[in-house]
Amino acid sequence: MIYIGCHLSVTDGYEAMGKTMRRFGGNTFAWFTRNPRGGRTKPVVQEDVDALRLHLEKEGFGPLVAHGSYTMNLCSAKEETRANGLDMLTQDLERMELLPGNYYNFHPGAHTGQGTETGMEQIASALNQVMKPGMKTTVLLETMAGKGSEIGGTFEELREIISRIECKDRIGVCFDTCHTWDAGYDIVSDLDGVLQHFDDVIGLSKLKAVHFNDSKNGCGSHKDRHEKLGQGCIGMEAMKRIALHPSLQGLPFILETPNDDEGYMKEIHTVLGWDRE
Ligand code: FE
Ligand code: FE
Ligand code: ZN
Repeated sequence: MIYIGCHLSVTDGYEAMGKTMRRFGGNTFAWFTRNPRGGRTKPVVQEDVDALRLHLEKEGFGPLVAHGSYTMNLCSAKEETRANGLDMLTQDLERMELLPGNYYNFHPGAHTGQGTETGMEQIASALNQVMKPGMKTTVLLETMAGKGSEIGGTFEELREIISRIECKDRIGVCFDTCHTWDAGYDIVSDLDGVLQHFDDVIGLSKLKAVHFNDSKNGCGSHKDRHEKLGQGCIGMEAMKRIALHPSLQGLPFILETPNDDEGYMKEIHTVLGWDRE
């Protein structure tokens, strides 16, 4: 079986997200830990978080996949941006501990001219400063499209960062289907081969979540423009094969497709339909 859901707004609190996703028909979800421009966050109300935890258990939800801010860049050439990123990461991971056992996914970063090696070192060093033994949250590095100076466009770069992380049992990967395809991995005609390569390079045990998106562009385009399921270059048949692939069973699948509420409900329904066939 798979867990399926989409991004929700945290504006009305945590329990509200659980209830919204139940209404959508899904059994996992994602949210941005702060507004996309990286501003301040509202304080978390303990009772609200506890109510969500109860709801998740009662409704049989899978693990949740929080998303760090797009503005967080742990390997920017600008020291101020790096310091800012470290602050966001620290606060986000503290908050995640209120909801133990879930995932915190983020974009590894863009080295903005410093080079991949320096970038990977800065990302690993930031994570090692903030990740603590005994933490209940698993941090996920997202596979990226490899646009600009983005790090994480190859499995090898993700492996390199992971190899430098001290809390080995708390680091994993979130596989974004649009990004991976845009990065040049052909998940349409060679899904088995791509997943085998992932296993050889990183290990499938590290694959903890999927961002389930079609892509507006071709394999290797390095663009990162998401599309609705079945309306992009990956296509519905390939999306279905991904959702049903034996190596990905039991993982949370998060839709980040350009949709309104109704569109998300439809896609959730489609995916659950495949699962029941
Ligand atoms: Fe992302
Ligand atoms: Fe994504
Ligand atoms: Zn994307």
